[in-house]
Amino acid sequence: MSDYHVHLHDHGVYAGIGPPHGEYPPGHIEAYIEAAARRGVDEVGFTEHLYRCVEAAPVLGDFWADEPHHDLAEDTRKMFRDDLSLSLNGYVEAVLAAKDRGLPVKLGLEVDFFPNTIEAVMDLLEPYPWDFLIGAVHWVGGWSVDYGVSAYEFDRRGIRRAYEDYFAIETELAASGQVDVLAHVDVVKRFGHVPDDTPIDLYQQVVDAAAASGTAVELSSAGLHKPVGEVYPSPTFLSMFYKAGVPITLASDAHQPDECGRDHEKLVALARATGYDHYLTFDRRHPILRSLP
Ligand SMILES: [Zn+2]
Ligand SMILES: [Zn+2]
Repeated sequence: MSDYHVHLHDHGVYAGIGPPHGEYPPGHIEAYIEAAARRGVDEVGFTEHLYRCVEAAPVLGDFWADEPHHDLAEDTRKMFRDDLSLSLNGYVEAVLAAKDRGLPVKLGLEVDFFPNTIEAVMDLLEPYPWDFLIGAVHWVGGWSVDYGVSAYEFDRRGIRRAYEDYFAIETELAASGQVDVLAHVDVVKRFGHVPDDTPIDLYQQVVDAAAASGTAVELSSAGLHKPVGEVYPSPTFLSMFYKAGVPITLASDAHQPDECGRDHEKLVALARATGYDHYLTFDRRHPILRSLP
């Protein structure tokens, strides 16, 4: 098994847990590999957040500045400032050095999708030897949809409209073909804001776009540890991806070593129950089909 969504630092201002943000001391990457191995996971794809890297800041710009709700824009401005503590070059060097040490690691990145700047972002990423890119929608305009501080927006906007706004951008990401995998594709449900009627129409748009562009979707255990208490994507959404022939990766969204490979046995059981026999890994952005355990 593999874990293809793993971070090397926690969010926010450094609180003394793990190495200081942007530093990769000896043994740090090894700790992730060891935790994964204890869970039967033998390959780890690291996927640091691009938006946290100082090199990305000039490209992304103050994307929250046009947000009409100033409270949302201010939440994002502060969060962005507190998270901007990593270096793209430093991260890539650390993962490539781990590869050189013979560790079973892959070089990935979690790329935030903003329709206006995705082309410039891809230009920024072009020189690096990525094994795979995962694409994420964390922001709808200036609203950070998976940030607890801004969750009041669900009341103001209404859950159905929040989903419509979120999935419109997720569909655009899926259609773009710029990334290899869709990360936490229904993360908008994170805090338990779920519409009364399952939004099959919104799911179908994403599924069709992913199938057409050849983009995979990650099956992530992270949602099990959030208020919603459910994997990403939901079992219904996952079965729609399966019927459309969209392949999966396996993911934990770990931000600390002991979360690496978490709940992968549950992911495999759900994938199998849905009909999947295989999952994907990547090498230099070429997909490799592997049998599920
Ligand atoms: Zn994410
Ligand atoms: Zn992540």
